[in-house]
Amino acid sequence: MADTSIRLHLPNLPPPGEAVSLSDAQAHYLANVMRLGEGDTLRVFNGETGEWRAAITKISRKAATLETLAQTRPPAPEPDAWLCFALLKRQKTDMVVEKATELGVSVIQPIITARTNADHVNLERLRAIAIEAAEQCERLHVPEIREPKPVMKLMADWPARPLYVADERRTAHLLGPATGPSALMIGPEGGFTDQELEAIARIPIITRVSLGRRILRAETAAIAGLALLLAASP
Ligand code: SAH
Repeated sequence: MADTSIRLHLPNLPPPGEAVSLSDAQAHYLANVMRLGEGDTLRVFNGETGEWRAAITKISRKAATLETLAQTRPPAPEPDAWLCFALLKRQKTDMVVEKATELGVSVIQPIITARTNADHVNLERLRAIAIEAAEQCERLHVPEIREPKPVMKLMADWPARPLYVADERRTAHLLGPATGPSALMIGPEGGFTDQELEAIARIPIITRVSLGRRILRAETAAIAGLALLLAASP
């Protein structure tokens, strides 16, 4: 029997003493990939109930049940920061979702712009990537991944939330740490059009921000921007 460092996200955690059934994929992972057996322990978590150590009570190649033992972390708030980024090709979108999760975003909002040349996205796949990244980076919350939205529509419905727009074209101030709810927006490889920039400029609480002197690829800009925004957050 081993106490492993494995962490699994479980959206619903019953109270201690009740059996927790795992999904087929999770059971497969524990049984066939990690080769765990009855009595081995791992951690399970979600944003609402925090993180718990749990022991495997039954396991086969296709099914597993656990029992929670003791809480290892109470629920705790995480940064309230959104990432809005112009959809990229599949591999780069995957990378942005993984890294944004590690860096601590709460919402990932893909956007479609005039110069975006990707419009299809497999949300289930992106959600699975975010769950895996949250498991690995010791977060309690998995970011919400929203349906892609045209940037003009997103701007038309924008809530009362400070928006930082990464703008490589002018001498804006370097993006600094967020002190409350925030959103970072990253444009497509070809940049935003003037019409899009005008729509963005109409948001009352928008700040154009620089990410340094060099022009970054969009995926680098998303990762570098979130590091600047969130490095000091809880
Ligand atoms: N318009 C450029 C490249 C855009 S880079 C061109 O013509 O090649 C893609 C996105 O990354 C931009 O829309 C911007 O949001 C962000 N970005 C890249 N480098 C940046 C920088 N130094 N400061 C702020 N934003 C940057």
